[in-house]
Amino acid sequence: MSSDSAVEPTAHSWHTLEVQRVLDMLASSADQGLSADEVRTRIAQHGPNVLAEGRKRGPMRILLAQFTDVMVLVLIGAALVASFLGEPEDIVAIVAVVVLNAVLGFAQEYRAERAVSALKAMATPAARARRSAVDAIVPSEELVPGDIVLLEAGSIVPADLRLLTAHRLRVDEAMLTGESQPVEKTIDPIAKPDLALGDKRNMAYKGTTVVYGRGLGIVIATGMGTELGRIAALLRDEDETRTPLQKRLSRFGRNLAVAVLTLCAVILIAGLLRGEDPVRMFMTALSLAVAAIPEALPAVVTISLAFGARKMVRQHALIRRLPAVETLGSVTYICTDKTGTLTENRMRVETVQAGDLPTAPAPAGAAGGALALIFEAVALNNDATRGPDGELSGDPTETALYRAAASAGRDKSEVEGRLPRVAELPFSSERARMTTVHRDGDSFIAYSKGAPERVLASCIDRFTTGGTKALDRQAALADAERMALSGLRVLGVAMRRLTSLPSRLEDVESEQTFLGLVGLMDPPRREAPDAVALCQTAGIRVVMITGDHPGTARAIAGQLGIAAVEDAVITGAELTAMSDEDLDARVQHLRVYARVDAEDKLRIVKALHQRGEYVAMTGDGVNDAPALRRADIGIAMGMNGTDVAREASDMVLLDDNFATIVNAVREGRRIYDNIRRFVRYSLSTNSGEILTLFIAPFIGLPLPLLPIHILWMNLVTDGLPGLALAAEPPERNIMSRPPRRPAESIFADGLWQHASWVGLLMAGLALGMQAWAIHIGDAHWQSMTFTVLTLSSLSHVLAVRSERESLFQQGITTNRPLLGAILLTFGLQMATLYVPAFSRQFKTTPLTGFELLGCIGVASVVFVAVEAEKWLIRSGRLYGTRPRQ
Ligand code: ADP
Ligand code: MG
Repeated sequence: MSSDSAVEPTAHSWHTLEVQRVLDMLASSADQGLSADEVRTRIAQHGPNVLAEGRKRGPMRILLAQFTDVMVLVLIGAALVASFLGEPEDIVAIVAVVVLNAVLGFAQEYRAERAVSALKAMATPAARARRSAVDAIVPSEELVPGDIVLLEAGSIVPADLRLLTAHRLRVDEAMLTGESQPVEKTIDPIAKPDLALGDKRNMAYKGTTVVYGRGLGIVIATGMGTELGRIAALLRDEDETRTPLQKRLSRFGRNLAVAVLTLCAVILIAGLLRGEDPVRMFMTALSLAVAAIPEALPAVVTISLAFGARKMVRQHALIRRLPAVETLGSVTYICTDKTGTLTENRMRVETVQAGDLPTAPAPAGAAGGALALIFEAVALNNDATRGPDGELSGDPTETALYRAAASAGRDKSEVEGRLPRVAELPFSSERARMTTVHRDGDSFIAYSKGAPERVLASCIDRFTTGGTKALDRQAALADAERMALSGLRVLGVAMRRLTSLPSRLEDVESEQTFLGLVGLMDPPRREAPDAVALCQTAGIRVVMITGDHPGTARAIAGQLGIAAVEDAVITGAELTAMSDEDLDARVQHLRVYARVDAEDKLRIVKALHQRGEYVAMTGDGVNDAPALRRADIGIAMGMNGTDVAREASDMVLLDDNFATIVNAVREGRRIYDNIRRFVRYSLSTNSGEILTLFIAPFIGLPLPLLPIHILWMNLVTDGLPGLALAAEPPERNIMSRPPRRPAESIFADGLWQHASWVGLLMAGLALGMQAWAIHIGDAHWQSMTFTVLTLSSLSHVLAVRSERESLFQQGITTNRPLLGAILLTFGLQMATLYVPAFSRQFKTTPLTGFELLGCIGVASVVFVAVEAEKWLIRSGRLYGTRPRQ
């Protein structure tokens, strides 16, 4: 096989060619696929299978952005003015601070950006391709022309394909053709070369979705060479990725900036009118502006969310949309699948009821009679495959049946040699069953398995060892119910003999002979009951939504503590009979839904929204996409889910595990808390600095601080501890308080009040120190004021770690990065006082030991006061916070 024989694919009308001709032209084979070497050669030739990307934020842009902040612009203006007014040392210091700020900001944002693109890379879709005769999952971007690709319901077609096989393959091509009806695919060549896309029925196009059936195709075009690539420029989605909180905060920042600049102008004009020194007044106004504009807020949100998402992925929750991190903490309902999410999805055949035999444990050795027939049926009606290593792969239900049949002496590979499959009606959740037709000499035999009530509905008699007998449908249903109530997943099995294939294949699912029932055990995940209980304390309701039998659903829900045994289980049929108004009225009391389909899921989300709930919903199938999009947090399965569901989701569970959702909610709450901490901290210290500068002239004090002091505090001594707040571990009560209301302002629960009084206190302490020092004729008054303010921020940051718990309840060492930041900041502050090179720039004087101790003592008043505030909050005397335990 060599790529030389591969002609440039896009030049051909592939749909007019015979399958074999296409394979020859692309030098590939349907059974073997391409070899790894060949793939390497072709990828070098054709490039990766990706669409050209929109613009990306490179390092240069991130760095530039650091210098275009409003505040930085103000700073640069200040530097220019200072040099113009003849204070050249100031320009050096200001430039140094601006550069330091830019470097810090750049390092953070660049790392955040990389974390986000790493997440994106993880979220790129994978395809199933046949390489060197082995079917493997490969990243879609590594597909090349000639690759053999497997399609199944829920796949997003990864490249443009000429189809080689198609079993009831139906593809939704709306995104290319606008046609909302799925197209049924074929493989026969179509003689007309000039056809519209939608009429090339033997082709499948990149980006379209398989809604039903299975198929095999050969890649004829990749990346920008695909039909999707041609229109990619039209589809390129503008990336509005800012989260609600970011938007709110930057709006807040803008308003605050305007207000502050106005205030500064007023102060400047008033001062000039009073006849103050214009230079001094100008510098005051400018420093005020610099101190008051909370430039870091939106950036801090981005950084916290990006790092939070990176941490979540290590805990198996892959975030596809960053805003989800922020809103996870608001979730009030988690609607979850049962199979695989609450249960292990490691199925085992437990009991069998065959023919007229009583229900019995699955046999461990070769079976005969009715038992043999039911196992032959599930061996043949089976999509699991055995790989070269003997491992079974496929849906867990299928592999479990494969295994049980094999140990009962009916190995699929052996039986299928005798009775080859010639046609099939694939499984879908909607139909809840599957049927395969096999050639048996001159005639045919069809086997079906699926939800017992569906299978029984098309049976007319039942098989027994003594010949077919009348079918007692009620008795069979009661058997199924009994099995289900013990927590088993129950499948009914049926067969039908045919002399010829009917023209409508669906007709084989009638006039069948019932063979019996198979009960599969799928144990609940070990961690699930605790996760459910945690949701209860966290004010989150857990709802199970499953396609399974109501009995099975009830049993598993009971074991997990989702519902009590006497609670109602609503079935899809009952749901359909319910009006929207009825559902709205009852939805808050329903915990378990069984035998529901994707449409029902959508209704459930809508009804919960109607009640003002904030809904996380899991899904794995093609048809789950609308419900996932509609839910506030759509959650797709990473292991057993489909591409379509993943594409529609906000978050992917890499381990399909319910407990992972609950962990993610906890992490979401932590991240939001930390953003709030940062806002609380920086607004308080900023207001402390503003008030100090603002009040001083009114009480007859000289300008307390120089611009360089303000810049230093704003960018370094406040910045470092502020960032370290993002490392704060979750509070102990984080999952024992109710969810945050989604619309709740970040300033709720006394944040304003806190920032105001702490600001006043800090200003009072600094000005008090200044006035006293001047009064006793201490020449170091400015250095002392500067030091008091800096140390007040540090004593504030220690206390502000929690909104309720005291530092000692929390543990002083539980946030080590913060302790490190505090020590570093303290050291830097000492350097500005005692290292001559610094103190020259900062125009400070070394304090005496007595003065320094005095500053530390005064600054710790802030810590004591904030601890007192928390004590008042704990005892319920302040702010009337939302109820918390
Ligand atoms: P869930 O996984 O929540 O049980 P599904 O939609 O996957 O929901 O399955 C719905 C029903 O379809 C199952 O309860 C079972 O009766 C039937 N079913 C599931 N898997 C298979 C299968 N592989 N073959 C035949 N029937 C199946
Ligand atoms: Mg399933």
